[in-house]
Amino acid sequence: MGKTAIIGFGGGGYHAAKALRKADPHAQIDVYTDTADAPANPMLTTYYVAGRIERDTQMPYGAADKIAQELGVRLFSGVRVRHLRAKERVLVLPDGTERSYDDIVLATGSHPLVPPIKGLPEDRKGIYVMRTMADADRLLQRVHEGIGSAVVIGASWVGIKVVEALHAHHVPIVLADMAPRIFPTATMPDVADIIHQRLTDMGVRLKFGAGISEIRQEGDQLVSLYHDGTEETSDIIALCLGLRPTVDIIDPAEFRMGRGICVDLHMRTSVPHIYAVGDCCEAYEMISGQPVVVNLWANAFTQGEIAGRNIAGYPTQFQGNFIHNITHFMGMDFIGLGDNRASGEQIVYRHPKEDWVFYATIDGDVIKCINVLDNHKVSGPAKAVLIRCLTAGGEAIGPAARLALQQSGLPAEIIAKIGGY
Ligand SMILES: Cc1cc2nc3c(=O)[nH]c(=O)nc-3n(C[C@H](O)[C@H](O)[C@H](O)COP(=O)(O)OP(=O)(O)OC[C@H]3O[C@@H](n4cnc5c(N)ncnc54)[C@H](O)[C@@H]3O)c2cc1C
Repeated sequence: MGKTAIIGFGGGGYHAAKALRKADPHAQIDVYTDTADAPANPMLTTYYVAGRIERDTQMPYGAADKIAQELGVRLFSGVRVRHLRAKERVLVLPDGTERSYDDIVLATGSHPLVPPIKGLPEDRKGIYVMRTMADADRLLQRVHEGIGSAVVIGASWVGIKVVEALHAHHVPIVLADMAPRIFPTATMPDVADIIHQRLTDMGVRLKFGAGISEIRQEGDQLVSLYHDGTEETSDIIALCLGLRPTVDIIDPAEFRMGRGICVDLHMRTSVPHIYAVGDCCEAYEMISGQPVVVNLWANAFTQGEIAGRNIAGYPTQFQGNFIHNITHFMGMDFIGLGDNRASGEQIVYRHPKEDWVFYATIDGDVIKCINVLDNHKVSGPAKAVLIRCLTAGGEAIGPAARLALQQSGLPAEIIAKIGGY
């Protein structure tokens, strides 16, 4: 019977524990989590701030004690592992206690990037980020105190969700980004234009091509200054500038590192018996063929399962993933798959009666990028199409995916063009 430590209890850690327990009823599993809460889904934080869900709904698997009992794990809540001596597989806890394990899963996730912006208040008064339930609690408390105006910096998935949450409370918002458009790594320019128009119609002021350079405090307000010489005054600033893998407990020199901890298809790091899953790791990405950090909930979930099974002695491989965005915000559904910088033939379909659009870039037989706005039914089969392109070299899609595409409302000539023949 092996002893496994799982560090971090988000989606990745939870599914590692669950898969390991299922495959090995006798394994000793110790889970370390730096929060007092149960595993939470960070993508639900803004729904809570918006008042659309209760606080506990952010924790999809239920209460921590109940989970610990169901999975038969020893749960060390509120314990932030201080250091991992990788080669010895020894965890160092905050009080200096050391514990050694046969296998270790690093599931420490990622944290919001807060760059050293000139003038950033040291106490972070008026500055908000969004990742954890504590971040959501803090912003909601400020909402209850009253917010007259907000600047959200970063037109990313997180940024737009923060906009949505504040908009639900009728806060006037400026959304700023140094990029020229929303979701700069996913949108095609024409699709971004439609989204911009809709956001503007809803009263969100957009400020693209404007990177923040400085923050100044004026009384209770914050003035944000931009490289283009403009400035904005607001009660709060939400910084949604991207994520960085949380790898502070390891010595990077001991691991093969990229932007995150590099893992192979079994989720093994370069140190024997140490695995990494979810936002803290860099795994095989199907479009580039390179290891990439993919900050997606289902990715963390799948990688956790794979690590758990491999530790239990059931060799299981990761198929790979690619960065994609399927998100609902401000009454819109946006689906962005593949590489929006890819060149090739552009296929465009605008539904004549319903207000949805489909864009794809195709290079020879291979689909490089898909954007869909306001038809969520396309997302599943479109993802299947892209995966098939990536794994089967552009072969025709199967009958199930073709049927699903037909049912989504895409016309036959478009389905044929993207490989449905
Ligand atoms: C606002 C928002 C919107 C999002 N929208 C989407 C979306 O639409 N679709 C999608 O797929 N994904 C979305 N995501 C991303 C998704 O939530 C993450 O990719 C996913 O939750 C990563 O899971 P994880 O287990 O790797 O990390 P996490 O959920 O971050 O879990 C890691 C845990 O480890 C803990 N930890 C870290 N260090 C230690 C330590 N030393 N000791 C003990 N514990 C430690 C952390 O506190 C944390 O609880 C969104 C995220 C946010 C914030």
